[in-house]
Formats: sequence, C-alpha cells, structure tokens
Amino acid sequence: MENEILLKIDNLKKNYDNITALEDINLEVHKGEVLVILGPSGCGKSTFLRCLNGLEEIKEGTITFGNKGIIGKDVKWEEVRGEIGMVFQSYELFPHMNVIDNILLGPMKAQKRDKKEVEKQGEELLKRIGLEDRKKSFPRQLSGGQKQRIAIVRALCMNPKVMLFDEITAALDPEMVREVLDVMLELAKNGMTMIIVTHEMQFAKEVADRIVFMDKGKICEISNPNEFFENPKSERAKQFLNIFKYKV
Ligand code: ADP
Repeated sequence: MENEILLKIDNLKKNYDNITALEDINLEVHKGEVLVILGPSGCGKSTFLRCLNGLEEIKEGTITFGNKGIIGKDVKWEEVRGEIGMVFQSYELFPHMNVIDNILLGPMKAQKRDKKEVEKQGEELLKRIGLEDRKKSFPRQLSGGQKQRIAIVRALCMNPKVMLFDEITAALDPEMVREVLDVMLELAKNGMTMIIVTHEMQFAKEVADRIVFMDKGKICEISNPNEFFENPKSERAKQFLNIFKYKV
C-alpha cells in the first residue's frame, strides 16, 4: 500500500426523500489499497459505491479524486467516471452484443480510443481470465460466472484507477463464486485500488487491507481484517459476525 490518497470522502450524506441512506461518511482510500465494506442489508453499502461512481446525486459532502480535486467542482464527473470502474451484481452486459463488442463500447465511445488498441487490450485480459475463446459469444451463451468475469474485463479496459465491486458474486451459483473471487484476488495482488462490497467473509479476510464496517448509514469501525474478525470493536459488528460464524 502506498501513501498517496486516491479517494477522499468528506462528510458525505445521502437521502432518498425522508430515508437517510448515508450519514456523514468520512474515508480515505490509498493507492493500491483494498477496502472491503461489510454491514447488514440496508446499511448503505451500495448507495456509498453508487455515490463514488457518480450514479447518485450528492447533496452534501465531497469526494476528492487524487490530485484532480473535488468531483463536481474542480473536475467534472465525465472526466473521472471512466477512471472509477464499477461492476454490479447483475453484470449489466448488453445482451445484443457479443463479448468483444461489449468490451469495446466504453473505451471507443466514451474515451474515443482506437479499436485495434482496445481490442488487443481486451484480448489480453480475456486470456488472463481464460476466456479468450469466448470473444464472439453472446451473454446468453455464457454462465453467470463467465458473464461476471467479462464484466470485470470490460471495466478494466477503461483503465480505471480504482475499481468498485457491488456484491458481484451474490447472484451466482456457489460453484461459480470462486472463479470470480479469484479474479478480484489477482487484481488486488497486481496493485489495483479496490473497494469491495461482499458477503463472502473468508474472501473479505483474505483480500482486504482494511475492513470498513457500516451500520445505519454510518461507518462504525475501520479495522485490519484480523482485528475485525477476531476482535471487532463495536457491539453491532459482533452481532453481525455471529450471523456469519458458520461461514468464516
Ligand atoms: P445496502 O447496500 O447496505 O443493502 P443500500 O445502499 O441499498 O444498502 O440502501 C440504504 C438505504 O437506502 C436503505 O434503507 C434502502 O431502502 C434505501 N434506498 C436505497 N436505494 C434507494 C432508492 N433508489 N430509493 C429509495 N430508497 C433507497
């Protein structure tokens, strides 16, 4: 982990009408760091990631992106969104496009990059995940695990500085979970800055530099994984871990 701060979140708040989804979130994410966000359903994990990707309008608080400054003030969302990659539970691949066209779309349209150059990068990444022979397949011809790995490659082809993962294995059959977790582990080993929301506790312990535990729209504690799983500071985290004790 390097010391450079890639993302800095200050006093972030988010409401949906009269529901407070996030309340005063403060967090620094360092370059090369892997943060895993844990917490009970409805505590605001997904909303937080969506705010970091500009999918939610932010009324209060700021997100500072590296040395570019505050997003929405010093730098426009359009200029940084490509550098903040996100992968969703539901893949979000375009069903009428084959794998390589799904991968090419963002870099060519949003980043105006050369087709050959992106195709080469896409092919190399597909090879790394063992799916180079599925370049011409359509999403419906792929398993859930394969679709999710393609969705990761698609996000990586935008050359992001940080990757956000929102419960990306939650909809997969158990035998496909591992292949997707392994791709994230490899990315972490290669130094990608990542923020991961997951319910896979063993994986969280394995991959995280720090665990961020949330409850009711707030960060309750930030700990290193060993500390968090063996000796959580907050009562709420203890209760939460009890639910998962059979899985850890
Ligand atoms: P988590 O990802 O931890 O399960 P979410 O971020 O999805 O939590 O939700 C946080 C809170 O915000 C919940 O109370 C949820 O019901 C509410 N919420 C999330 N999205 C919306 C939305 N689009 N409209 C209204 N309320 C929402």
